Amino acid sequence: MIVFDLQCRDGGETFEAWFRSGTDYDEQLEAGLVECPFCQSPNIAKAPMAPRVPRKGADNPLARLAAIQSEMLKDSRWVGDKFAETARAIHSGEIEPQQVHGSATIEQARSLVDDGVPVAPLPLPITPPGQVN
Ligand SMILES: [Zn+2]
Repeated sequence: MIVFDLQCRDGGETFEAWFRSGTDYDEQLEAGLVECPFCQSPNIAKAPMAPRVPRKGADNPLARLAAIQSEMLKDSRWVGDKFAETARAIHSGEIEPQQVHGSATIEQARSLVDDGVPVAPLPLPITPPGQVN
């Protein structure tokens, strides 16, 4: 899986989307399957990489982020503090490719990135399953 920062050309909103590969992104974009999550415009392009800072004055950016994040994690499996080892196992082909999320220390995350394991920080902290009332 690969994550791209995308930008809506109509509204200018930026968001993240996951694809199986760069080719998959190209094909989905060409087929008009990539939509802006805010205004459903299919007029999407890769966003210039930039710090993810909500625009000043945007209405309730946290709620938007939360919506995007829950969409991102829809098909993702929570692996808790096993995140670093699970990500490595997926990267090395020991286990089936799958989207997972969990917690990692800064050191673990740095080490994963150094080893070329594709990981991305989540925009918002999440409550692990089991800790929700
Ligand atoms: Zn839009």
